[in-house]
Amino acid sequence: MVLQEAQIVVLGSFMTDVVSYVSNLPRMGETLCGHKLAICCGGKGANQAVTAARLGAATAIIGKLGNDSFGKSYLDALKKENILTDFIGLTSEALTGLAQIIVEDSGQNSIVIVPGANNYLTTEDVMNSRDTFTKAKIMLSVLEIPRETVLSGLKLANELGVFTILNAAPAVEDLEKNFYILSDIFCVNETEAEMLIKQPVTNHDEALSAAHRLMEKGCKKHVLITLGKNGALLLSRDDNNSFLEPVFVKAPEVKAIDTTGAGDCFLGALAYFLAYYPDWPLCKTVTNSCRVASLSVQRAGTQTSFPYKHELENDLF
Ligand code: ADP
Repeated sequence: MVLQEAQIVVLGSFMTDVVSYVSNLPRMGETLCGHKLAICCGGKGANQAVTAARLGAATAIIGKLGNDSFGKSYLDALKKENILTDFIGLTSEALTGLAQIIVEDSGQNSIVIVPGANNYLTTEDVMNSRDTFTKAKIMLSVLEIPRETVLSGLKLANELGVFTILNAAPAVEDLEKNFYILSDIFCVNETEAEMLIKQPVTNHDEALSAAHRLMEKGCKKHVLITLGKNGALLLSRDDNNSFLEPVFVKAPEVKAIDTTGAGDCFLGALAYFLAYYPDWPLCKTVTNSCRVASLSVQRAGTQTSFPYKHELENDLF
């Protein structure tokens, strides 16, 4: 199937993850011999798009890769996932975004991220992809690309009546009011919520108070805080601006072996269910997104752990 139109537009990021496995993390100035190397596709935006596409969503990404070998092989990988790549630019200004990850046998890691080409995604790139916005139902964005680009995507989506999800990740200390106002769903994990509201989020009461604080910052409709193995909290307002009863959605109890990318899997699933099952109550959409994410934590890796539609249980639909 060749995609012409996308139901989900991800305005997001790409990173090539280069993972070296060593017995101990190197000390300053030390050269170490690792015992394994892995090179994988990552980056929050792409992870979310891959999840949505594997679940069967017609998905496009607007993003920037470097005009280099990592960029070209990333583009091929996205095409194999059946993601619409027409709005991905290749820049010679910087290399493809890269995450250098060192994992020691104990599981401890150290990571250096260089956003590279992601920093060159501009408002103009968003405007040039206006056509794909007009046909989409959902726009999903993250903060691994320049903020003004995210904001222009949110504005365009609002103008065109496209439902917006902002995953305010990675964690930032402050965010202009417009990011909250223009997001139909504002979604963060506990750490990201803590950074934004400058208060701990370690239990249900604190999560609820954080959700209210995020609403006060400008969210008009829904705040969603993912809580790892404890699921997610959804706080919504109705059309009269009154708060609805908050919903704590439980995640299935599973044996987690690698939770990397769980949040991205959750968001990709959320976008998919919203686009294809628009009549579901939002708490059902969130419950099922938790179920999809709980599948990913039972497998190793990031994109490698994201499930395909045929792996989902039928009672999800
Ligand atoms: P992030 O990856 O951004 O830190 P979370 O850790 O909050 O995000 O995880 C996102 C979602 O993944 C959770 O809402 C939950 O549904 C699922 N999840 C994460 N960890 C587990 C776990 N140990 N068991 C079951 N589900 C999990």
